[in-house]
Amino acid sequence: MKQVTCAKCIACGAETDATPDVGLCPKCGGVMDIRYDYAYIRRSINRQILENRKVFSMWRYREFLPVPASVSFPKLRVGWSPLYRADTLAARLGVRTLYIKDDGLNPTASLKDRASAMAVAKATEAQAGIIACSSTGNAASSLAGNAAAAGFETYIFVPGRAPKSKVAQLLMFGAHVISVQGTYEETFELSRAAIARYGWYNRNAAINPYLIEGKKTVAFEIAEQLGWEMPDYIAISVGDGCTIAGLWKGLTDLYQAGLVDRLPKLLSVQAAGCCPINRSFESGEPMEPMAEDTIADSIAVGVPRNPDKALRAIRESQGAAVDVSDGDMLEAMRLLGAYSGVFAEPAGAAGTAGVKKALETGVVPHAATVVSVVTGNGLKDADNARKAAGEPISIPPDMDLLVKALGHIAVPTKPSA
Ligand SMILES: *Cc1c(COP(=O)(O)O)cnc(C)c1O
Repeated sequence: MKQVTCAKCIACGAETDATPDVGLCPKCGGVMDIRYDYAYIRRSINRQILENRKVFSMWRYREFLPVPASVSFPKLRVGWSPLYRADTLAARLGVRTLYIKDDGLNPTASLKDRASAMAVAKATEAQAGIIACSSTGNAASSLAGNAAAAGFETYIFVPGRAPKSKVAQLLMFGAHVISVQGTYEETFELSRAAIARYGWYNRNAAINPYLIEGKKTVAFEIAEQLGWEMPDYIAISVGDGCTIAGLWKGLTDLYQAGLVDRLPKLLSVQAAGCCPINRSFESGEPMEPMAEDTIADSIAVGVPRNPDKALRAIRESQGAAVDVSDGDMLEAMRLLGAYSGVFAEPAGAAGTAGVKKALETGVVPHAATVVSVVTGNGLKDADNARKAAGEPISIPPDMDLLVKALGHIAVPTKPSA
């Protein structure tokens, strides 16, 4: 793996070998970061080489990824999700140019597949037998699916409040599921203790530094899909903080490898009822835990485990923090659906809700080019989709009643011959 140099602690700077089972810093317990030799990467690829590749998945960018050539890539097709130019929605929101990156189209329907595919590749390299994690839902179902395709057993800890469709999804992928009657924080702690006790491969994003390396592939795709022209802003929803940190890592990787010549600002979008990272960004104070009071289960993380990388990403990009209410997210779900044909779960729509709010408050200028990442598909949370969408017209099979129900629709008159 000539592209990788080492794993380096973001707190104390200690360096270790980038072995497949790197966890927290052995010296200070800080979060590790995988480091690359950008001079080597620069020599290995350019835009042309990438554009000519026939691999249409996250593994298209293998020079930037910490996987040795001897490890075969996991089977499910993760990544290379579409980037839609959304002119109708842009007009509704009042922004000149808007793109929607629909990561809900990944195999298990969320951006988490990028991290789980990487976890499976690293577990393969580590010759692990069992992979485990705790999750608010999507990391769990993505691990279960990607592990199932690669023949691993999984043990997965979810908080009792995880939406039923997500739990059904992971049971369907054959995972051993432990539903913990407690908060996400308590769920995480139990999984951590169990992983230590049983020696499972750890897919917890706040501990395993490789997961961000999977998530960063979303940035490579956005850049290539935009012809290497960076947008002014990228909006993304934030829970634990690994996704936005991964997005930023990918963007800076591209910059360091000379593939793009400027960087966008990041909009960190959190639920107003659970926004500890945004609060810390705004106040400059150390992060304080918050309650998990939002319908957006995927970003309801009261004690983020990775705030430092996330905070650094927002600051270094000269970005902004935007908090959105549950009502804002339900509205963004309707707007995405009705004006761009993209179906998002509440956390998936949070980025778009954040764009709307940032335009209204003047944080983002109307002349900007904005990418909003939809991080999870609406079918994952049918209850909230029903809440956002309302009820259909319900009538007995009768034409008169239909005409009455559709009363406001004008009937076209036949053109006279
Ligand atoms: C996990 C997740 C996020 C946030 O990612 P973090 O790494 O926890 O910040 C956003 N949206 C969806 C749909 C997710 O599943």
